[in-house]
This record gives sequence, structure tokens and C-alpha cells, in this order.
Amino acid sequence: MVLRMSRMLLKTLRDAPADAETASHKLLVRAGYVRRTSAGVWTWLPLGKRVLDNVSRVVREEMDAIGGQEVLLPALLPREPYETTGRADEYGDLLFQLKDRKGAEYVLGPTHEEIFTQVVKEQATSYKDLPVILYQIQTKYRDEARPRSGVLRGREFQMKDAYSFDTDDAGLANSYRLHREAYVRIFERLGFDYRIVSAVSGAMGGSASEEFLAPAAAGEDTFVDCPKCDYAANTEAVTAVVPPVPHVEHPPVEELDTPDTPTIETLAAHLGVPASATLKNLLVKIDGEVTAVGVPGDREVDLGKLAEQLAPATVELVTAEDFEGRPELVRGYIGPQGRAFRYLADPRIAEGTAWITGANKPGRHARNVVCGRDFTVDRYLDVVVVEPGDPCPKCGAGLEIGRAIEIGHIFQLGRKYTDAFTLDVLGKEGKPVRVTMGSYGIGISRAVAALAEQTSDEHGLCWPREVAPADVHIVAAGKAAQTELALELADRLHAAGVRVLVDDRTGVSPGVKFTDAELIGVPTIVVAGRRAAEGVVELKDRRTGEREEVPVAEALTRLT
Ligand code: ATP
Ligand code: MG
Ligand code: MG
Ligand code: MG
Repeated sequence: MVLRMSRMLLKTLRDAPADAETASHKLLVRAGYVRRTSAGVWTWLPLGKRVLDNVSRVVREEMDAIGGQEVLLPALLPREPYETTGRADEYGDLLFQLKDRKGAEYVLGPTHEEIFTQVVKEQATSYKDLPVILYQIQTKYRDEARPRSGVLRGREFQMKDAYSFDTDDAGLANSYRLHREAYVRIFERLGFDYRIVSAVSGAMGGSASEEFLAPAAAGEDTFVDCPKCDYAANTEAVTAVVPPVPHVEHPPVEELDTPDTPTIETLAAHLGVPASATLKNLLVKIDGEVTAVGVPGDREVDLGKLAEQLAPATVELVTAEDFEGRPELVRGYIGPQGRAFRYLADPRIAEGTAWITGANKPGRHARNVVCGRDFTVDRYLDVVVVEPGDPCPKCGAGLEIGRAIEIGHIFQLGRKYTDAFTLDVLGKEGKPVRVTMGSYGIGISRAVAALAEQTSDEHGLCWPREVAPADVHIVAAGKAAQTELALELADRLHAAGVRVLVDDRTGVSPGVKFTDAELIGVPTIVVAGRRAAEGVVELKDRRTGEREEVPVAEALTRLT
């Protein structure tokens, strides 16, 4: 069907929402792709749904190509399986929890390892039933601390999650390889600039894991990349390979000469970081309550802001116990521009975790506060610093550091979940064999925003063809003859299998239509304008801006 803008539910906006900080958030809202329903919860409007479906289609095709079988599990899940694996606690506040009218406890699925394991336990009994790859494209729920950046980090979002089940380690390695290769094809086809990096497994558990990162300034992950060899890692995973610097003795806070609230300088000295440092993933206990500053999903906080925010309360470092059930808080870095710091915490906290200090309590900005009297710090940590140019742990070349968006994550889980649910199948020797598992995620809705981050320009969205809501956007400048020509061309292109969006709105100036066409970002723009009467249209490449006038017949052959 030809999409006619005169009939579509589509309203472009001149201004971006006041709270929008990233290009994708601004542009997807302004171009009428998505609409905010509540914090981190989004409605996909007709143009947005088409892009979302295009991403899903590519993912489906490549998952099917490696033998994945599509299923659909519920989002409303009993809480119990998540208790069995301990993840109900591990996810903590991230988990949406609810009760039915009888008081039975449910969660809204944040990811489905537990339920898939149960499904396979029921359906597979013998080694002959394996290996198997199951996947779904489904709505996930996570009560993110700071839903921001539009659909980049939603509290309700679309994920493709896949799970592999094998009888032995070689099988798992093979399933993992198949997914890794499928992901390469998916992200190539979608038009991403991406890197594959070593990652930490976090709440998922398991051994090996890698992330697919899309470099972008709006990203919330920091990664190191070797320009010479294939080494690349999320800074969350870097400590494993970068030798720690010697232990640094920090001065106790009592010795700091801070009159009222701490200053940038006293804080910097206190933390042992430069005054220009920006802070991320900070935890602090205020009056015994753990509060987070810059948890994943938040903006970085600079020292000045932190100094302002320190409240007249008892502030202490967070201990290992405080991290229990809050794995999303157990990691992080402090980084001035271009630097990534890693904090190795108290040995009771596993290696590769983070610490802490700082506070963020709105409404607690009272003065006459004295560091040392009004708050104390009871533990300091070793610091590992990775800076641009640091030697690559593999080849020694100077490392580069960049920001990126996590678009995919693949895990070799091993037997964490199959142990929890005793998922065995009958092996070749007639004895039960414990199944081994992998899990593989792609943020479908996030991919839309991440692509917008990477491809948009000052005029608006600028989609790679495979995901664009249409192939061609025909603008009828306004006069009846122009509209007639535009609609005729639209019909003929459509008949030839081209996806067409035609701006046949009346009472909208040509200038507004051209601006909207740039904003909406379909790869080819055709204008039926000044020379429509002669049967001549203008072809414009949205990305390069190149334009040329051609007879309609030629436009047809070129676009089909
Ligand atoms: P992040 O580090 O950004 O919080 P994650 O590591 O928690 O992501 P996974 O549990 O690995 O996410 O989930 C698989 C994929 O789902 C991620 O790679 C990402 O693309 C997507 N995803 C995760 N959380 C969100 C979210 N809140 N909104 C949109 N997509 C998300
Ligand atoms: Mg997360
Ligand atoms: Mg992550
Ligand atoms: Mg992840």
C-alpha cells in the first residue's frame, strides 16, 4: 500500500521535548515515530512501527538461518522460577513485581532464561532432542533507575532473546559461534557501525560473554579498542587484563579542610581524582540508605554538582552487603574526558566491581555541613586507570577509548540455569546428561534509536535502506497537477515493489514538506514540483544531498 501522508496519523513537531538530550530521542519524537506514554514507556506510531518491524524482520531472517525456532513466551510470569535461581533478589528494584487478586506473586519478564529452561525441560527428554535454538521477539520490562534517551533505555522495550541448549561444551561453543556469526550479519544488514567487545556477564551469570557495541556519543558504555589487533573490551571487563596500579592511601576525610559543603577541590583530593573528573556509577549510604549517583542509565555527574548535592547526613561507603541483590550497581568507572577509571573494591566484593561515594538526594541541600563531622567515609579502594594510549594487553599498541551503545549481548551461560531446574536429558550412554545453555539478546527497539544516533544529521533522520519506513518519499509540491503526477508515480513504483511514502497533504507549504521529508529520513526523496507539467521530477539522495532533475520515465527505471 502506498502510504499517503494526507491520511496518516503523523504530525511532525518543530521542537523537541524539553527533556530530550540525545539526537535519537529528539528526532524520533519530532518526526512522529514514537510518542512517550510514561517514563520509559513508548508508543510506536505508524512510521516508527515500520522501522521496528524492519529491524525485527532482519533479526528473524538471520535467526531462522541458523536454525532458530521462533516461539512466544508470556511477559507476565510467576515469580517463583526467578526465586529458584536467585534472580528475583539479584535484579532487585529492576524487577517489576505484581500480585494477582488471590495474592499470587508475578513478575514482568526482564529476560527469560528461567522460563525457557522450564519449557525445554518439559519438551526435551533425550540427547536426540538437542541441540535446539529457541528465540522470541518480545516485550521486556525493567524498572530502570533512570529511563532516559527515549527508546534507547526504556522500562518497557522490545528484545530478541534466544537460548541454545546443548549436551556438551563443544555443542555450546558451536551454538555460540552460530549466534555470533548471525549477529555480525544482522548488524551489517541493519547498517550499523559496531564493535564486538569482551564483556562481563553480570546478573546473567555464566562464563564467556561478548557485547556488540555501536559507537556513539550518547552511549552509556565505555570501551577500549586496539587499533592494531582484535582486542576490544567494555571497560567493565578491562580490569581482568590491565595490571592494577599500586595501592593509593587516601587521606581520611576528617583531615579535609571543608568549611560548609565540600568544594570541588576537597572532594577531588578526597577521592584521589583530578578536579576535572566526572563521576559515574557512584554509590553512597545516606542515613543508612543506599543511594546511587550515575547508575547505568544516568548522566555523568561532575564534582561541582556532587559537592552541591552532598547532604547533611551520615554518608558512608557502601559495603559488599549493600551490593547484594543490586548487581546493576556493582560496576563502574570515574572518568574525566577520555579516561576510564576502574575501581577495585573491597575484596569481599568480587573483582571487577565498583565502589562509591557521593550523594544525590533532592531537597537535601542544606548548608553548614562539615565533612568529617556530618559525614564519614570508612573505606577506600584501589584504582585501576585506563587511559588512551595505554598498552593493549594483547599486542602492546596504544589503546583507544570510546563511548558506545550496547545493542547486543551473547553469553555462554553453561549450567547455571539447567542446574537450578535440573534440566537433564538421556545421553548416548543411557545416563542422564546435564544440559548446557547459552543466551543471546538484541535490543530491537534500542537498535532503532542507536541507528538514529549513528546515521542522523543536522536535518533529521537518515535511515539505511533496510530499516527505512519507505524506499522513496515523494513530495507533491502542492498544485493539483503536481499531486496527480506524484500519486501516479507512487502507484507505479508501488506496483514494481517499491515502498512509497507520498506527501499529498493539502494546505501545507512546499517548504514545510521539504523540511519534513529531510526530518523523516527516507533514503530517496522525489519532488513533483516546478516542472511537473513537463513530466520532470527531482530526485534527491537524502544522505548526500545530491539532486538532479529527470523525466518521470527515467525516475521509474532508476527507482525500481
Ligand atoms: P544495559 O547495560 O544497557 O543496561 P543490559 O546489559 O542490562 O543493558 P542485557 O541484559 O544484556 O542488557 O539485555 C540484552 C539487550 O537488551 C541489550 O544488549 C540491549 O540491547 C537491550 N536492552 C537492555 N536493557 C534495555 C532497555 N532498558 N531498553 C532498551 N533496550 C535494552
Ligand atoms: Mg541493564
Ligand atoms: Mg550492559
Ligand atoms: Mg548486557
